[in-house]
Amino acid sequence: MVKSILHIDMDAFFVSVEEVRDPSLKGKPVIVGGDPDGRGVVAAASYAVRKYGVHSAMPIARAKRLCPHAVFLRGSHHLYSEFSARIFDILDCYSPLVEPMSLDEAYVDLTGCERLHGPVTDTAQRMHDEILDRVGINASVGMAGNKLMAKIASGMAKPNGLLRILPGHEAAFLAPLPIGRIPGIGPKSGEEFKRMGIYTVRDLAQLPLELLEEVYGEWGRRLYEKARGISHSPVLKRDDTRSISRETTLEEDSTDPAFLESTLSWLVEKAASQLREEGLRARCVSLKLRYSDFKTVTRSHTLNEAACEDHIIFDTVVGLFRKLFTRRTRVRLVGVALTSLTSGAPPQMELFENMNAKQWQKLYAGIDRIRNKYGFRSIVRGSSCSAQGEL
Ligand SMILES: [Mg+2]
Repeated sequence: MVKSILHIDMDAFFVSVEEVRDPSLKGKPVIVGGDPDGRGVVAAASYAVRKYGVHSAMPIARAKRLCPHAVFLRGSHHLYSEFSARIFDILDCYSPLVEPMSLDEAYVDLTGCERLHGPVTDTAQRMHDEILDRVGINASVGMAGNKLMAKIASGMAKPNGLLRILPGHEAAFLAPLPIGRIPGIGPKSGEEFKRMGIYTVRDLAQLPLELLEEVYGEWGRRLYEKARGISHSPVLKRDDTRSISRETTLEEDSTDPAFLESTLSWLVEKAASQLREEGLRARCVSLKLRYSDFKTVTRSHTLNEAACEDHIIFDTVVGLFRKLFTRRTRVRLVGVALTSLTSGAPPQMELFENMNAKQWQKLYAGIDRIRNKYGFRSIVRGSSCSAQGEL
């Protein structure tokens, strides 16, 4: 059966929320991110500021050099979560199958909903308009027969557009595009492919499966399929997939365990602070390593008690890392994922008036308060200090 999958992605989400709050910002160069005189990165850039070459994930000091007259805002995760919840309330009205990918991005499976909602393009337009009317945010919508193509379509529809790729036309649509359009091929991989003379998806699609598998392993097979627009990944309901994860591709591949552990510590801090902010605890902690040969391994550990404290999660991650990192092969990417999330329930040990747990809780509440006020970088674990950049 041909599926009808939507990928909905808000345009410059954090900036758009700020514009709703203060309409005088509309059309101005606005940057949401860390302290413009500090080491932070750009979290979101308005379209007016992108003309100056500013984009998200860029060091904020560089953004300031490129566009010194921009309006710099520190942003509020609470506010963005609130807007996000209102957007997801709308999406939930259109399909029982909504898979959130982040605060401002989701897949919606509309397969079989035509009789209820009418043609998929009309439904997508209505969803777009309803988000704009009720929340005040522009979205871009991709429509296709699978998640991969829907995501590519929404990316190309930006800003504020709708694009449908008809099932059966995937490979032809992709062929002329630069390979960077394929989700998962970032700037670093893109450069590597360019050095091999591969610029477009057509070039990539000409590589035989055997070669891709030999060079990239499992990722090679996925590249082979992506180049043809093939994806079988289902849209999963929110509860099945809810996870908080952070990962980063290192600027240079590394075999240094101390550096890698420090980077993991930093990722744990980021993930755990989001966990606490959303009032959640995680039962399952996962580590992901991608080696320079693109072999990717993940290892998970289930905790006896769901936790939200940095030190518990970090100890688990480091335990997994030390067991796994025996090849001494260069590592290209590290990641941490927290799953099996439960909300609010206090840890059982509190029932026994365990002062130690309470003290930890107070400590983390204090850390989160400081961060809310002065930014994430204002207080970090000693073990995170040699991690590079802001993630
Ligand atoms: Mg977005």
